[in-house]
Amino acid sequence: SDSHFPIPICPAEFDYSHHYPYFFPSGGEDHKNGSASPRKVRFADIGCGFGGLLVSLSRLFPDTLMLGMELRDKVTEYVKERILALRASNPGQYENISVVRTNSMKYLPNYFGKAQLSKMFFLFPDPHFKEKNHRRRVISLQLLDEYAYALELGGIIYTMTDVEELGDWMRSCLEDHPLFEAVSEEELEADPVVKLLTSATEEGQKVARNGGQTFRAIFRRIKFEEE
Ligand code: SAM
Repeated sequence: SDSHFPIPICPAEFDYSHHYPYFFPSGGEDHKNGSASPRKVRFADIGCGFGGLLVSLSRLFPDTLMLGMELRDKVTEYVKERILALRASNPGQYENISVVRTNSMKYLPNYFGKAQLSKMFFLFPDPHFKEKNHRRRVISLQLLDEYAYALELGGIIYTMTDVEELGDWMRSCLEDHPLFEAVSEEELEADPVVKLLTSATEEGQKVARNGGQTFRAIFRRIKFEEE
């Protein structure tokens, strides 16, 4: 049951001062941001596991707020402790990353408003091999509607897996969706985030150690003609 972990009623109810106290020291006011619009979470790591990607991204984009979403209680607690320990031993750093225990397939719209995110990550998600379980996959045409809503125009969705069948599935969902287009190989070459997908995730490291293959599909949120 999901009833034992708190879910914000809407994105405005998400407690920024709890997750990012360095940026929101006085109960909600964003003191590090000169502009009038408050800083919001811009990157979401869906099924973040042990948090390796967040930790690496934090160093690469120290002023960008990022949130990991993880279903497993113990894993979420581990990531919380990991971030607190990093903050304690590196004052002023790792203040831009946090994690929530949640089922992203149910509650993503409770956390992120329209066009809020610039990057979403779906790295090494559970494959759910059986056909009757495909509806439990975290990438589907229906869920891509939600992800398109949460992503800004030009925002990027990064997917990667070591399961070829799932890689084909994620790519074909993205190709079939009218609000996404593939990012070109040249852009992927130039994007420093792409290298982290395998090197910074715990699953990516495992696959690399075992000499396994990975399959990626990286797409951009585009405008729909009538938008
Ligand atoms: N992304 C990480 C990495 O690459 O190292 C972890 C990959 S792990 C194989 C998949 C993770 O997704 C697991 O930790 C699992 O608990 C989490 N997960 C599965 N379904 C989820 C859901 N509906 N909402 C949030 N997390 C979920």
